[in-house]
Amino acid sequence: MKLEGQVALVTGAGSGIGRAIALAFAHEGALLGVADVDTAGAQETVRQIESAGGQALALDMDVTDEGKVTDATDRLAERFGRLDVLVANAGIQIVHPVEDFPADEFRRVVDIHLTGAFLCTKAAVRHMYAAGRGSLIYMGSVHSHEASPLKSAYVAAKHGVLGLARVMAKEGADHGVRANVICPGFVKTPLVEKQIPEQARDLGISEEEVVRNVMLGRTVDGEFTTLDDVAQTAVFLAGFGSNALTGQSINVSHGWSMK
Ligand code: NAD
Repeated sequence: MKLEGQVALVTGAGSGIGRAIALAFAHEGALLGVADVDTAGAQETVRQIESAGGQALALDMDVTDEGKVTDATDRLAERFGRLDVLVANAGIQIVHPVEDFPADEFRRVVDIHLTGAFLCTKAAVRHMYAAGRGSLIYMGSVHSHEASPLKSAYVAAKHGVLGLARVMAKEGADHGVRANVICPGFVKTPLVEKQIPEQARDLGISEEEVVRNVMLGRTVDGEFTTLDDVAQTAVFLAGFGSNALTGQSINVSHGWSMK
């Protein structure tokens, strides 16, 4: 097993990509903190891990609330005795053209993706620095490197996550802590299913055209990225054995982005 005995905190692990990563980590022998604002979703992920013979703790965490983030992170480290991996994954999507984008919705997207990743990092590195080791994994997106219309908040936030990870690669180096970003293309999760009718409406095209042209048009093969593609990339980054791999972003996107 690639992550035997390691303790990992995954945010947004009550659904989609976060759940897939939590399950893949548990399969590789990790002990999981399953954090989500959706506590029923987090509990369901824990149930799935436990029924497969793993160990996990459901954590009620809104990543924008520093007190909750710190408390939940400390609770996890206390329960399992250490913290080796953070996967800052929680996220939402809101799409509008800039001229119609309500400022409070813009702030909310940036707050969850970017401030949330910062707060989770701040809470996690206290444990990692004390132990002299750790792996920070940020859920970026192809939109950490590319731009699409209607996604000003998301693209700005995901570019910001890349910057945060690069700073953490430098700050963490003296403490044995690595920082990397996974940049998936479109993965069919609730976050993406919700966008298909919204984009069709805003762009004045059919839902099939949104999928074929907007979401998959720039891939090399017209395929969605899968949950397992992203989860296995996270396993690889979490288990990488030296500090050589830090400050990087990995596009898992069927060639949509090649940066
Ligand atoms: P999802 O909607 O299935 O899951 C997101 C999870 O985050 C949900 O369980 C939700 O409750 C949780 N969450 C939302 N706000 C939160 C908060 N304030 N505090 C804690 N948890 C919160 O979406 P997903 O597709 O699995 O997305 C996960 C991550 O992957 C996001 O960062 C997203 O931007 C990124 N991503 C997704 C895709 C894709 O195509 N699905 C592509 C690239 C990147």
